[in-house]
Order: sequence, then structure tokens, then C-alpha cells
Amino acid sequence: MPDDRFGRNIHYLRISLTDHCNLRCLYCMPEDQTFQPNSELMQDDEILTLLKVFTSLGFDKIRLTGGEPTIRANVVNLVREMANMPGVNSLSMTTNGVLLGKLAVPLKEAGLNRVNISLDTLDPQRFKTLTRWGKFEDVWQGIHAAEKAGLTPLKLNMVVVRGHNLSDVVTMSNLTYEHDWQIRFIEMMPFAGQTDFQTTLVVSDKEILEMVTTELGQPTLLNNGILDGEARLYRLPGALGTLGFISSVTNPFCAGCTRARLTSDGKLRLCLLKEKEVDLLTPLRAGASIEDLRTMILDGIWWKPWGHGLAQGEIATNRTMSQIGG
Ligand code: SAM
Ligand code: SF4
Repeated sequence: MPDDRFGRNIHYLRISLTDHCNLRCLYCMPEDQTFQPNSELMQDDEILTLLKVFTSLGFDKIRLTGGEPTIRANVVNLVREMANMPGVNSLSMTTNGVLLGKLAVPLKEAGLNRVNISLDTLDPQRFKTLTRWGKFEDVWQGIHAAEKAGLTPLKLNMVVVRGHNLSDVVTMSNLTYEHDWQIRFIEMMPFAGQTDFQTTLVVSDKEILEMVTTELGQPTLLNNGILDGEARLYRLPGALGTLGFISSVTNPFCAGCTRARLTSDGKLRLCLLKEKEVDLLTPLRAGASIEDLRTMILDGIWWKPWGHGLAQGEIATNRTMSQIGG
């Protein structure tokens, strides 16, 4: 498995299946976002070829994201091909859940292991405001369809935005009393497109934890504080599910980072919050050999940045979150 020059073992690949989306979340992209033409995006066979190269290097944990991965044409077949690929030990997806009502069962049958679903509020009106185009009921139905289909353990991602859904921290936490779900509070990160919004309305995990503690009592820290992926886990007294805190901005987890990203247009992105990328699609289309691609990936991984520079005011503004694949 490839190591970077800091000794981190990089074996987790997030693949953006498309930069397109059926929602327009305020914190992710402007409403008039323009998308890349299909010809510039990786085609199915290109994704599979690149994935084969990554797995040959030891990448074994794969997450599909976007944009919205479920709107990609042929997504179920693509998932089936990936799930059957030797070396893929874990295949998951991050989705807004809108289409899971109809896709949860086919995706599970195709070999998808589990999903993280984004949900920022339980209030239908606030949901509409935050996503611009979304209907709360669709996602709620999608969450239950995913659970029923066995795409579990289920994790719900909530980006907390001051002035929009701070009070929903409590209602979302309440879900863990009845459901064995992980509710994950994500600090809003800055990218291109919505940078001012993202930097001025961010809420720290510390503030969120204080709010939970004041309203619902002190949650217990789990696993001695060792991160589950990127989340620090807590459990409220008597709750079935857990609360996860993802402090990417105020308490980054770069030292334990094991991931790389493949953008929808085929660039290897070494850090979500740094602009450095290695183009893999152009060489692939130009006839690069598998060995050439392996070398490019290993070289890119070696030079993976240590961490992001948000604390120093450095913001990567060459792409929106949806283009990179969150
Ligand atoms: N469309 C899918 C979804 O919303 O789940 C997958 C892609 S989305 C970019 C992946 C995750 O990134 C979502 O949980 C979303 O809430 C989160 N996200 C988007 N913009 C963000 C930002 N500026 N800061 C932190 N998280 C963000
Ligand atoms: Fe689409 Fe996900 Fe971005 Fe919302 S967060 S606009 S659902 S890509």
C-alpha cells in the first residue's frame, strides 16, 4: 500500500462520479453553478480502469461521491462492477438521499455496502431553504429505504450553518434516542463558489458540543476519543445511536489522513483543501500504460500535502466541493 513522505498509509479513495447535482445546497454551490460537459468527465470504462490501477496499489476502501453520485446514468451497473473488482474490500457512497427511495435496493443488490446521507434539518421549510431545490420527504423516505435495504450502519451528515440550522443540532441529536444512526456534525469548509458564506457562517464543533450538552446532557466520549474515520464519537445517555463531530476546520485530523480523491474529471486530488492535483484522465486518454499510471499515482501520493492551511487563511479556491467529491 502506498505511503506518503510523512509515513501515512494512503489506501482510501473517494471517487466523484459526477460534478452535477439535483440540489443546490447553499454551502456547496451557487444556484447558477455551471457543470462540466460529459465528454470531460470520466466515462464508466475509464473509472473502472483507474480503479483497477488504484486497487493494484493497495487501495481497498472506496467511497463514491460527487456532486450527486445517484444521478449518474448507469450507476447501479457501475457499482456492481466496482463491488466485484478484486481488492475492493469496502464500497460506500455519500449521497443526498433524494433518489434512494428507488435506488437503495438495487444499489445494495449490486454490492454497495453502506451510505452516508446528508441531512441538515428535520424542518421541511428549512430543508428547502438550505438545499434550494430539495424536498425533505424525499430524503426522509430515502433514509428509511436505505436502512431497510441494509445499507448500514447509517450515517447522517449535517453541515451546521449559523443563522440557518443551529437549532436543528438538538432535533437531529434526538434521532439517536430511537435510531441506531450516527449523526455527524460537520464544520463548514471554504471552497470556490461560496467562499464568503462558508467562512462567515461556520460553527465550530466546540460550540455544537456545548449546545448538545446544555440541551440534552453530557454525552459520553467513545473509543477514548480515537477517531472513527474523521469523526470523534459521543453517545447521549440512553441513546441507541451516536453523535460524530467532524472538526475539519478547528481541529483537523490531517496526521491520521489515509485518503486521496479522484475528481469527476479524472484528477488525483491529494488533499480536499489543497489545490494540488495530478491529472490521470488526460494521460489515460493519450494511451498511458498501466505502469505509467501507477507511477503517476505513487508519485502524487508521495507528495501529498501534510495538511491544509485554513488556520493560516489559505483557501483552495480552484474548485467547488461538488467538483472535488466531498
Ligand atoms: N451530493 C452528496 C451529498 O450531499 O451527500 C455527495 C457530495 S457532497 C459534496 C458530500 C458531503 O459534503 C455532504 O455531506 C455535504 O453536506 C458536504 N459538504 C458540502 N459542502 C460542504 C462544505 N462547504 N463544508 C463542509 N461540508 C460540505
Ligand atoms: Fe449537491 Fe451534495 Fe453539494 Fe448539496 S452538498 S449541492 S447535494 S453535491
